[in-house]
Amino acid sequence: MGIVRDNVMDLKVYIPGKPIEAVQRELGLERVVKLASNENPLGPSPKAMSAMEKALNDIKLYPDGSAHYLKEALAEHWGVNQTQLFLGNGSDEIIAFLALAFINSGDEAIMANPSFPRYEPVVKMMNGVPIEVPLTEDFRHDLKAMAQAISDRTKLIFICNPNNPTGTIVSKSEVDEFMAQVPDHAVVIFDEAYFEYVAKADYPNGLDYLAQGKKVIVLRTFSKAYGLAGLRVGYAITEPDLVIALEKVRPPFNVNLVGQAGAFASLQDEEYLRYSIAENNKGLQYLYSEFDRLNLPYVVSHTNFVLFNCLKDANEVFQSLLKKGVIVRALGLQSWIRVTVGTQEENEIFIKALEEVL
Ligand SMILES: *Cc1c(COP(=O)(O)O)cnc(C)c1O
Repeated sequence: MGIVRDNVMDLKVYIPGKPIEAVQRELGLERVVKLASNENPLGPSPKAMSAMEKALNDIKLYPDGSAHYLKEALAEHWGVNQTQLFLGNGSDEIIAFLALAFINSGDEAIMANPSFPRYEPVVKMMNGVPIEVPLTEDFRHDLKAMAQAISDRTKLIFICNPNNPTGTIVSKSEVDEFMAQVPDHAVVIFDEAYFEYVAKADYPNGLDYLAQGKKVIVLRTFSKAYGLAGLRVGYAITEPDLVIALEKVRPPFNVNLVGQAGAFASLQDEEYLRYSIAENNKGLQYLYSEFDRLNLPYVVSHTNFVLFNCLKDANEVFQSLLKKGVIVRALGLQSWIRVTVGTQEENEIFIKALEEVL
């Protein structure tokens, strides 16, 4: 008998990208542009920066394990009760806690494919059964097929909206219809990591289903539009009972002191958030126009990244771009590549490199 649990033996190790400096040195490049992880190229609000600098003075102390001020600010921001809020070391951590708190051996979790790659392994880790439902032809969640996949064993249903890596959304009427078919024994997780970027009128806010009394958990994060990916602060909004279940599996100091201060301050700076989103939209429009010029198909995005078709082997194009100092993401989807919207300068470097490679 092995020491490692069978389920853990079966999991794959996440292979992180190399640090930018290492790639730069290895390839002898002057500059490396990383457009691989959907980070906000503008970074956080200056107000968040000064709040974090100030917080460094208290770094000898443990963080506030209840994240009192951040929860207070989030409760006000979203018009929910503090008892409905749960904070994580990134929403990534919360996704793992969902499996830890809710998946019994043999429970099923429904998710789209391709979608965010963390849902499947956390379910397997708990000896749960991931049920993967392919996206529609237009790269969106197939909510009809996902509703048909519901069984007596369904415990969690992940709706990544907008979906990573496609940038697509499902509409309010589609989700309304889906929600009407979800039985009481299943919890619907709306992963809304890109919520702030979506401007479409028929985009459903997961919080509305919570207000209707449905069993839902809404995941949001400071990593994307707020530009704080390195701090690791994400949160869930749900009913108090489910918050309590998640609290039971949480280490007491999972959200660090600097992170709480930076997230709190960035919530107060709506103007910077709007600026960030406006810049992202300009970048998206630029990339669309360049993909049009190069005759490359792409999926219209509601996020800060775009999935485009390079019409060649994506892994080879990825490698060639890397040699030129541009890091994108090939996801094992034939000729499709995901690129994060960078600054205008970064976007231009990317397009120039892409044109040369193709
Ligand atoms: C980036 C991302 C996350 C993870 O965000 P963190 O809060 O940084 O852990 C979760 N879900 C989706 C869909 C994402 O794209």
